[in-house]
Amino acid sequence: NTEPVPLAVAGLSASYGVVPALRDVSITLHSGEIVTLIGANGAGKSTLIKAICGLVRPSAGNVRLFGEDVTGLSPDRLVRKGLSVVPEGRRLFSEMTMRENLELGAFARSDRAAVGRDFERVIDLFPELRERLATPAGAFSGGQQQMIAVARALMSAPRVLLLDEPTIGLAPAVVDRIADIITRIARTGVNVLLVEQNAETALSVADRAYILEAGAITAEDRAITLAESPEVQRAYLGI
Ligand code: ATP
Repeated sequence: NTEPVPLAVAGLSASYGVVPALRDVSITLHSGEIVTLIGANGAGKSTLIKAICGLVRPSAGNVRLFGEDVTGLSPDRLVRKGLSVVPEGRRLFSEMTMRENLELGAFARSDRAAVGRDFERVIDLFPELRERLATPAGAFSGGQQQMIAVARALMSAPRVLLLDEPTIGLAPAVVDRIADIITRIARTGVNVLLVEQNAETALSVADRAYILEAGAITAEDRAITLAESPEVQRAYLGI
């Protein structure tokens, strides 16, 4: 298999002023994988996402997308190269309708016919939302807004999708629904990096997992193996 690796982060470091937030972080997302990065509050998860998508400038290391060095490229350049992000806190345009939010996700695309087809495909993932395309995004529940944020990210037809804590603050049934959607997205050929504080959900969805502590990767293994590790159970699963 000579296909380039969808996403490879190598030796990435970043700091806010003099405060280091990431130290020599390396993670790889292989073709067809769901990979999760779990870590506590403040471990540096969001900083890693921001460093990958050009919102935080790394002080060392690089990011490769399908073999191409994309370190420091702006988010909109990255979208055009197939990387899409569902940011923490969703960042929807709450006064705009759900349909308008989704259309914004396709801003970088010019093939309107393909965008139209993707719109239908994306909406099919969220049948509970189809009837409410004309509703302002701000009028939806938290879980529904998360689904809209995922749908918007998919409208750029990404090959790599980064999700920053998509289940935070949601009720258990909604968390399960989001987890199911992530699995279904991955089956359509999108490579997924899921950043989560909710280790239980993340490890149940992912093929492989990394643990981030104080800005550094401290463990890496198959998700199922980490879920069975006594240390992980104690620190992240409340067992
Ligand atoms: P959370 O679950 O709260 O999102 P996280 O794992 O995503 O946590 P980060 O938000 O990446 O963690 O933060 C990592 C470290 O960097 C923390 O110590 C945080 O206080 C610090 N930090 C984050 N953003 C900034 C900023 N804009 N300026 C200064 N320090 C920051």
